Amino acid sequence: MTANLLDFDLDGLAVFCESLGEKRFRATQLFRWIHQKGASNFDAMSDLAKSLREKLKTSASIVALPVLSQHISADGTIKWLFDVGAGDAVETVFIPEDDRGTLCISSQAGCAVGCRFCSTGHQGFSRNLTVAEIIAQLWFAEHFLRQHLSRSDRVISNVVMMGMGEPLQNYAALVPALRVMLDDHGYGLSRRRVTVSTSGVVPMIDKLGQDCAVALAVSLHAPNDALRSQLVPLNRKYPIAELLDACQRYLAFAPRDFLTFEYCMLNEVNDTPEMAQQLVQLIQSAQMGMHWCKFNLIPFNPFPASGLTKSGPGKVQAFAKILTDAGIVTTIRKTRGDDIDAACGQLAGDVKDRTDVASRISKQRVITISSQ
Ligand code: SAH
Ligand code: SF4
Repeated sequence: MTANLLDFDLDGLAVFCESLGEKRFRATQLFRWIHQKGASNFDAMSDLAKSLREKLKTSASIVALPVLSQHISADGTIKWLFDVGAGDAVETVFIPEDDRGTLCISSQAGCAVGCRFCSTGHQGFSRNLTVAEIIAQLWFAEHFLRQHLSRSDRVISNVVMMGMGEPLQNYAALVPALRVMLDDHGYGLSRRRVTVSTSGVVPMIDKLGQDCAVALAVSLHAPNDALRSQLVPLNRKYPIAELLDACQRYLAFAPRDFLTFEYCMLNEVNDTPEMAQQLVQLIQSAQMGMHWCKFNLIPFNPFPASGLTKSGPGKVQAFAKILTDAGIVTTIRKTRGDDIDAACGQLAGDVKDRTDVASRISKQRVITISSQ
């Protein structure tokens, strides 16, 4: 078995190189070839000694994930479905904007949290992704996009861990993957441009603050425990008060940052003016003023098994106004890539039926580009 070098952060790669009798600066060179230049062939790494390249050929590999499908939306959003084996697939979405390029990455095949409004949650949990499988999504997307858009500079400026899975329930792989993203010899992304989104795994929020204080988004979705426990079952273990405390502790590790609360707008479930008022009280009760957090209202992407519908635009606006009037910065998320089902929570759309994915994987691997 050879080691997949996408599995290592720079320290890990240095240890691996040492095991081959090589100094740390060789690991740095190798890391740059892999992540900055997108090399997967050791022979291309011209400034590495031939003897090292030969050693690497027998002991290591740089293996990306097979692409099952690729869809390019009319608005430039691109969605990939990657094969992670055993009939499982994960999705990655690139969202271009004027001033940034954001990649939405998956952390698990399926998810164990089981939120009512999330199709990944309905799919159940299959397994954690490895560091290599998380990083392979970024590695592939960045180097594909440079070619696709004929760019030599960096295309992806932001990463959000908002694809399939609960990143804080795959902590051991998440942190090295974040380090590769932040490393100047890797993707060189700034701490504030990498966002971990969580449904609220309180002890891991604390740990992340200590280990790698990137931007944090917390999926709140309800202003009280009774409702939140129905929508996000993890709330029974970590109720809102504990979650808010953890959020405030997190900010001590992320100076001058603010935290984002995500709130998926569900018709007649969590979208009433009273609930907006309850949210205001919740934030006021934190006694940190109104500027330590912002709200991002997400239009719900319905899927039949959820039995839920989306709030109309008028209700979303009215809800946002109550928060804004109370001094809370509030944004309403634009949906992107609608024509290719790339929006939030639709990510599992293609993989809901595992047997279908399994049959597609076992057949020919076809890349479909449906540019509209
Ligand atoms: N597990 C993490 C990250 C992945 S989900 C989390 O829950 O935060 C990323 C975001 O998409 C979360 O805010 C989640 O609540 C939201 N989401 C899930 N299903 C959705 C749907 N059907 N419509 C809109 N947003 C959804
Ligand atoms: Fe898991 Fe997040 Fe979906 Fe909840 S919203 S089921 S935590 S992926």
